[in-house]
Amino acid sequence: MTAKPVDANNHHKISALGEKVLGGGRITHDEAMFLFNLESSADILDLLAWANRLREHYKGNKIHLCSIVNAKAGACSENCSFCSQSSHYQTGSPKYGFVDPEPVAEAAEEANKNSVTAVGLVAAWKGLNEGPLLDEICDRVREMKVAGKTRPDVSLGIIKSQRIADRLKEAGVECYGHNLESSRRFFPQTCTTHTFDDRLETIGYLKKAGIKICSGGIIGMGETREDRCDLAFELKAIGANVVPVNILNPIPGTPFAQNAPLPVMEILKTIACFRFILPRQEIMIAGGRTVNLRDAQSMIFMAGASALMVGNYLTTLNQPVEKDLQMLKDLGLDPNWDSHDFTDQETSVCGCGETNREAETELTAVK
Ligand code: SF4
Repeated sequence: MTAKPVDANNHHKISALGEKVLGGGRITHDEAMFLFNLESSADILDLLAWANRLREHYKGNKIHLCSIVNAKAGACSENCSFCSQSSHYQTGSPKYGFVDPEPVAEAAEEANKNSVTAVGLVAAWKGLNEGPLLDEICDRVREMKVAGKTRPDVSLGIIKSQRIADRLKEAGVECYGHNLESSRRFFPQTCTTHTFDDRLETIGYLKKAGIKICSGGIIGMGETREDRCDLAFELKAIGANVVPVNILNPIPGTPFAQNAPLPVMEILKTIACFRFILPRQEIMIAGGRTVNLRDAQSMIFMAGASALMVGNYLTTLNQPVEKDLQMLKDLGLDPNWDSHDFTDQETSVCGCGETNREAETELTAVK
């Protein structure tokens, strides 16, 4: 990062794009790449100020908090290069089967106490078939629904039939976590045991079942800025409601163990670019926040983030929830988000889906 003054030309272009998004317009892939390629700290701070304005305009001061429970840990058949739970790597990560009702109920209780909107049951496996495991998951979801402490979300990998998605919906799942991880182009460098299209197919079943989509990716895996930009446009095209941005926390034993960390300003700039591309979506900062951003964590909101994963991650630690709540209070942000408020979708403007079709057209041009 260079310490140059604000470039007048860049300032003018950033402001014009900010005004465009503020007025309900969309930025093109080329315009987004201009933002992703900003280099000087002055230009990036200029961008953050606009991203903050967009967050305030579209999301107000509400911050959506989520937490997760590792419902089945380790020994996953897949070879995702960033993941400590893959059976392909020696990471020393814990392994256990699907959790009993009590820990899930405790996590929901804890979440409720801390203004956390949703608890996601996350399972480390390739995906889910019909059978006793699906029955058990549906039971946990129903129990959480009945207890009414928090919204039960799930993240259960690849789904290969509409029937499974429909059964999850019937059990009470409102939102399903399924990241695209990166651009279509970079995806094969993150995983070769399943494909980008497997992930898109799963999202198709979920959407048809009427389940909201929580889908984002990981930055810092060695992808280019264009990969990050393409991921954001892909997420727009699939109509993701919540977009988690994870920052790689390199795990010893995985192929990405030696990846150099992204500079803090590059991370903040990426979040801001996501806000420009996905102005109405919940942009959630998830894994890798504490280790990568350290004292700059509170700047994620100025960069446009409107949601936060709190509590510990699947296999790594986060800062205590109390510290996150204090951070929100200090910034005048409100964690009391309505757990069923998914009006962040652009389709909700008219309900006809036209905006998403436009986005798909944009995406075709990107590929
Ligand atoms: S499918 Fe999920 S749990 Fe399995 S290796 Fe990939 S990221 Fe890890």
